[in-house]
Amino acid sequence: MIDDPILIVEDDPVSGLILEKLLVKAGYQVVLVREGQAALNILAERFIPLIITDWMMPGMDGLALCRTIRSGTYPGYVYVILLTGKDTKQDLVQGLEAGADDYITKPFNPNELLARLNTARRILEMESSLRRAAEEIQRLSILDPLTQVYNRLYLNFRLPQEISRSQRYGTPLALVLCDLDHFKEVNDQYGHLTGDRVLAAFARCLEGCIREGIDWVSRFGGEEFLIVLPQTPLEGACLVGERMRERLGELGDQNEMGRIRVTASFGVTGWPGTGSTPTPPSLEGLIQKADEALYRAKQEGRDRVCCLPDSLSEPR
Ligand SMILES: [Mg+2]
Repeated sequence: MIDDPILIVEDDPVSGLILEKLLVKAGYQVVLVREGQAALNILAERFIPLIITDWMMPGMDGLALCRTIRSGTYPGYVYVILLTGKDTKQDLVQGLEAGADDYITKPFNPNELLARLNTARRILEMESSLRRAAEEIQRLSILDPLTQVYNRLYLNFRLPQEISRSQRYGTPLALVLCDLDHFKEVNDQYGHLTGDRVLAAFARCLEGCIREGIDWVSRFGGEEFLIVLPQTPLEGACLVGERMRERLGELGDQNEMGRIRVTASFGVTGWPGTGSTPTPPSLEGLIQKADEALYRAKQEGRDRVCCLPDSLSEPR
């Protein structure tokens, strides 16, 4: 925060210069512009959280600048101090109502201005630490702590959105549900800590097989993971499942897995998004179909991929 410059908006060159000199002497960096729109242009390029603005200026004045900032969206809070020759109570009320956080009249006392800037910085620092904490809580609330892939909560929220999008654009959607084979034996034989390492390595292996920013992995429960593949036909998803199965086989030789060889079974299903099946499947219906496919892969001997189209689709 202390590294951020202060944005001064002042049309009078002499006033601007005096203010700039004072702030630079106090250790601040300064960006100086002559009217409101220029300030907004700067804000659009780089975020500056602290602004001292004059009221009366040609072009966009200080009040309009305050209002525009309050109606906009920025990466953090913008603290605005109005510094103006307008000095009636009515002016002050009008300035605060326009969205200014503080109001100082000209001619100003330098020490008072610097003290008020300290207040502004204190509030901005508090706001930014609260915002970072909220972002971290948000991040943690949707991730599985052990494997760092999305959790069930996120799956329940996001998958219906993927189904709707698939319907809207008429694009296919596929799911891969996979489960480590005989995972209980890994836990029994090597202990749960090793089991956890294997789970985390499996999750990274799955993530390594998908398209970044499009497909996503979630922990469905225990040693089960659900991979969502938007814009992917069933055939493509089966290939992804096969690739995951092969990569897992190669992982056994690496230290990350503690040189433990594990296999997994994969159930793949998909909804074509267009054609003869215009009704989108429900979240439950789609997952159930993937579960059926997974069950079949287990029945047929594990360490394999089984593909089943969505129940509403044409039989293949
Ligand atoms: Mg002026």
